[in-house]
Amino acid sequence: MYDHVDIKIKCPKCGTILNDFQTKDGPCCYDNIGPLSVFKRGPYGKRDTLIAYDICENCNCWVDVEMPLVPVTNGIVMVSPMNHKIECRSITGD
Ligand SMILES: [Zn+2]
Repeated sequence: MYDHVDIKIKCPKCGTILNDFQTKDGPCCYDNIGPLSVFKRGPYGKRDTLIAYDICENCNCWVDVEMPLVPVTNGIVMVSPMNHKIECRSITGD
């Protein structure tokens, strides 16, 4: 299971708009989450960031977006709207 992540990011390599991100770091029940979303940590959420991923079909690269999670109360976190780190890896090896 996973959640949809409601963000739009330009592929760092080719500039294509990507908007089909998923994550396994949220509640993992097909929720829609995004910046400022508040949720209870799921079974896999042990990091203090949430990694969302999508594949750019234009240039075949895997794009990871790492978003800090801000603690709200016990076990509840909010997705930070700032300081997102975007990484892009080629999946064809070039
Ligand atoms: Zn691309």
